[in-house]
Formats: sequence, structure tokens, C-alpha cells
Amino acid sequence: LLTVRGLQKSFGDNSVLASIDVTLGAGNVLALIGPSGSGKTTLLRCLNGLELADGGTIDVAGERRLDFGSPVGKKDLLALRDQSAMVFQHYNLFPHKTVLENVIEGPVVVQKRPRAEAAADALALLERVGLTEKKNDYPFELSGGQQQRVGIVRALALKPRLLLFDEPTSALDPELVGDVLGLIKELAGEGWSMVIATHELEFAREVANEVAFVDGGVIVERGDPEQMLRHPREERTRQFLHRLL
Ligand code: ATP
Repeated sequence: LLTVRGLQKSFGDNSVLASIDVTLGAGNVLALIGPSGSGKTTLLRCLNGLELADGGTIDVAGERRLDFGSPVGKKDLLALRDQSAMVFQHYNLFPHKTVLENVIEGPVVVQKRPRAEAAADALALLERVGLTEKKNDYPFELSGGQQQRVGIVRALALKPRLLLFDEPTSALDPELVGDVLGLIKELAGEGWSMVIATHELEFAREVANEVAFVDGGVIVERGDPEQMLRHPREERTRQFLHRLL
């Protein structure tokens, strides 16, 4: 479903992604782990076309291969964005819009779907996550866990091929983490394809088909979650895991 080759991104002279290779089969879940500042967020933002990579290629669903080695047009970037949907660490809901308006914004404004159809879909998704009664509330009236569930529903409403999660629970109070992780696990069980940056190793072990350790702008090591997290091959991975455990 997703093939990334030699992806590069610098901010000024700070090379954040040196050369990233990622492949993901349809229906699979890849967990990205790595130290703070290692580039996980930047990688997800490049995959979603929120950030323009400086080099390398991204291919989603074999439909459109973007080569960042040459100039990439806005149309291509928008097409890339259309393939995936992002769930952000800090939810990033529109503060002046209600829950329902937040969820239908993308389908109506970006995807030009009929409002009534988008609203019906949104209500079904909100019901699924137990937020029907909150549909007319504003984000500030919700708990962090509820806001993040809206964030996830908003991503699902776009019907993307690929879901991207950027540390979806790291801003939550500990007692709210379980709900959100449970929902993500359910979605994985339903066959959604996902890339998830996370510091929750236990969750990564349970949900992911594969874990990749990102450090210094490259993927140092990737593999089966059990093997990677219990018996890493690389010294750098070992040190990182040792610090966390
Ligand atoms: P964390 O786990 O803390 O979220 P991360 O692995 O997601 O970290 P990134 O947020 O991708 O890391 O950041 C990687 C590096 O890129 C950092 O050094 C950061 O300062 C830099 N960086 C990210 N975005 C920008 C930007 N828009 N402009 C300049 N530098 C940036």
C-alpha cells in the first residue's frame, strides 16, 4: 500500500530525515518508535503532504508515485494528502466549530461530498465512539480523550487508504489513554492500514505488525514487534529501549 524510498527532509541545515525507507502492506500497522526529535512527526507530515520532502519518493496504493527529487506541484501534493488522514498529538480540532462541524469539514469542503451524506456518515461514526450526545459541543467542552476520539472520527470520515497517528495519546491524562488506544486497536482489527508514532511500547507490541526504530533520520532497525522490543539487534535500539523500560 505504501512504499517510501530514500525520503529526505531538512529544516535549514538541520537534516531531520536523512534517508527513510518504509513499506507497508494493505491492512498492516507499522509503529514508529524513537527518541524525541528523531523525526517521527516530520516523517508522518511528509507522508500526508503537510510537509514537502526534499528528496526520495512516496507511493501510496501504487497510484501515484511522487518523486521529491524534482519539483512537486501543488496538485500532486493534494492528491497525496487525499490518500491518508492524520490524527494529531494535540487533536488540532477547529476550536470555533462544533464536534459535528469538525468531522464534516474535510468531506464537504475538501472532498466536495454532499453535506447531508457527510453528516449522516459523521453521526454514525460519532455514535460508534459514544459521542452522539456531544455532537453540538465545542472542543473546549470535551475531555482530552473525547477530543482525540473526535480527531480519530474526523480522520475516518475522510475514508482514507491510510491512517497516520502522531503520538495520539501523549497529551492525554493517563486514565484517558486506554480508551483511545482501545479504539485504535479496534480499527487495526478491522483492517485499516496505519502508521503510528508512539511512545507506548506495550501498545506498539499489541497493535503493530511491524515496529521501526527511527534515530538520526534513518530507520535503524525494523521487525516483528516481539523480536524488536525484546531482542533488538542494534545497539542503538537496545539503548533506547533500555532507557524507556
Ligand atoms: P517527538 O517524539 O518529540 O514528537 P519527533 O521524532 O516527532 O519528536 P520531529 O517533531 O519530527 O521529531 O522533529 C525532528 C526535528 O525537526 C527536531 O529537531 C525539530 O526541531 C525539527 N523540526 C520539526 N519541524 C520543524 C519546522 N517546521 N521548522 C524547523 N525545524 C523543525
